[in-house]
Amino acid sequence: MQIERRSGTGLSRPMLPVDVRMIRCSTLLIHWARFNILTDPWFGMTMRGLRCYRAPGMRPSELPPLDGVLVSHIHPDHFERGPLDEMRPQPGAVLFPPGALAKLAQPHGPGWAELPPWRTAPIGRVEVTAVPARHTGPGPDEVNYVMCFPGWGCGFFGGDARLDEDVLRQVRERFGPMSFALLPVGGSRILGRKTVMDAADAARAGAILEAKAIVPIHEGGIWMAVPPLSRHPGRAAHLGPEVRKIGSASRVVVLKEGEAAALAP
Ligand SMILES: [Zn+2]
Repeated sequence: MQIERRSGTGLSRPMLPVDVRMIRCSTLLIHWARFNILTDPWFGMTMRGLRCYRAPGMRPSELPPLDGVLVSHIHPDHFERGPLDEMRPQPGAVLFPPGALAKLAQPHGPGWAELPPWRTAPIGRVEVTAVPARHTGPGPDEVNYVMCFPGWGCGFFGGDARLDEDVLRQVRERFGPMSFALLPVGGSRILGRKTVMDAADAARAGAILEAKAIVPIHEGGIWMAVPPLSRHPGRAAHLGPEVRKIGSASRVVVLKEGEAAALAP
């Protein structure tokens, strides 16, 4: 486990870190001050009927009370209804991309809401902004999220997205350098077509965002690949070499299921 100690020596009030805990895939628990945000909730042991090799690092019943949940898109490895009901997040703070709720065809939970790209919603004191993202579709079919922690800095959540340099440049321009970026590295190929960033893409994305730290998420190997239909070749361990290859200053923080890191602003 890689833990960064608070760097507050000499300051009268050291800044609180943002704690990022890897649950599995793109499911992460983000804790800052007294606020808890969960991303892309998925706790199952199958993915579209395929066996999963790795269990989530926490069960829903082990989570702290949640102030909000960010859903990048509603593929089954990013959104699972059952545990979400069990977790009972604060009303008004379960955010989805535009069009997602109509597709779910089930009664919505309290306070589920769609957040269109470039709109901001508060989760506790954290300001959450949705940004456009491309994944499997030709057009935007996912959102990514920027979380800004007042007086601290901002972090980026990349869900299951492909590399979109234009959007990332806009994010950098609007929010400044990211303190951290949670970026997918699985490089999935569905019928030969890349649907999510691989490690080289994530290194590039982190450089554009000027991310001080990159936490790789959504690596391959979590569930069975079915070549030639689906391949998931990217691994978290590929990210460090790719970051060094392009001379980026981003620090890579690899977290296994259940591990957490305290990130400095
Ligand atoms: Zn997906």
